Amino acid sequence: MSQDGQAETLVIIGSGPAAWTAAVYASRANLDPLVIEGEPSRDMIPGGQLMYTTDIENFPGFPEGVDGQELMQKMKAQAERFGTRTMMENVASVDFSTYPLVLRPSYSDEIRARAVIVATGARANWLGLDNEIRLAQHGGGVSACAVCDGALPAFRGKVLAVVGGGDTAMEEANYLTKFAGEVVIIHRRDAFRASRIMAERTLANPKIRVEWNSQVVEVLGEDYITGLRLQDTVTGEEREMEVGGLFVAIGHTPNTAFLKGQIELTPHGYLVAPQAWRTATSVPGVFAAGDVMDDYYRQAITAAGTGCMAALEAERWLAHHGVAEAEPPVLETAESSIGQEQMA
Ligand SMILES: Cc1cc2nc3c(=O)[nH]c(=O)nc-3n(C[C@H](O)[C@H](O)[C@H](O)COP(=O)(O)OP(=O)(O)OC[C@H]3O[C@@H](n4cnc5c(N)ncnc54)[C@H](O)[C@@H]3O)c2cc1C
Repeated sequence: MSQDGQAETLVIIGSGPAAWTAAVYASRANLDPLVIEGEPSRDMIPGGQLMYTTDIENFPGFPEGVDGQELMQKMKAQAERFGTRTMMENVASVDFSTYPLVLRPSYSDEIRARAVIVATGARANWLGLDNEIRLAQHGGGVSACAVCDGALPAFRGKVLAVVGGGDTAMEEANYLTKFAGEVVIIHRRDAFRASRIMAERTLANPKIRVEWNSQVVEVLGEDYITGLRLQDTVTGEEREMEVGGLFVAIGHTPNTAFLKGQIELTPHGYLVAPQAWRTATSVPGVFAAGDVMDDYYRQAITAAGTGCMAALEAERWLAHHGVAEAEPPVLETAESSIGQEQMA
């Protein structure tokens, strides 16, 4: 609840590049945004996916690269500088059938909001091994994003392992051959799940070989990965393999469980923004930004870009519906909620 007991003007859910960029724009536009950052858990940290990486070399403005945690602290500080308020809780559920929109945090009282930006991201799926997560968070040669980290000097000329058997794993493996000495795909079965064309292209690549019927049961290395302990999924036999890097490519899970039944999602759980180049969702007053609505680019800069778009769109939507008026706005359908004339 805002300080005067009224509904919040704008609540932003999330704390990655999309959320903080939206917050910078919204706070500079005097929308007095509240950011609900999420709470720390094993596979999600306030600050988002970049908290799992040390060297970011492709975010503009940092010619020497920047540490992921440092970048996120700076983004948050920039939003706070313009008055953004924050709380470190998850949104556990929402009620979008009523207006103002209702958000229910894990512990605090429910929050009512005139507009909401959902920027909760999509978490990379990890194998769930202790040393895997530890090394991923400390620049120890374990990653879940080849496009992001593959070009780092530490991986050049090394034997790199890719875990997975779908299209993403094929793409990551092929991409990594630009830098690696050799790429070894580790797959639990004796055939890939990937589309035929992707699988054929991968198997034809002379720099790629496959360890079939194999799963990683342990990631080896103190400060940096040195190898993997693999288990044969047919015989149960274990063996060790030396590697200079590990890329986990077993998919992403959009953080939208708390939205189920309240808003349109794709079959894979991503938020739907029905209009091209817009962030408005199927619920009037609710906007989407970042990886939670993007299963294609998944980059910090695209997340930040859509965060900017969502804040501008929310600001114009609120102005169009007379945010300062006591009466709630008359809601329109998703298609017409942001009149095209508004954004022209
Ligand atoms: C290992 C790794 C390395 C990467 N390296 C790079 C790189 O070098 N360059 C690059 O451009 N991209 C990189 N990426 C991709 C980049 O991290 C993402 O594209 C980007 O973080 C997406 O930003 P986002 O704001 O959409 O969501 P996220 O960064 O995922 O942040 C979303 C956050 O929202 C919060 N949240 C989730 N659910 C809730 C809820 N119910 N209530 C409240 N809060 C919630 C959580 O705190 C969550 O962390 C990397 C990704 C990984 C996994």
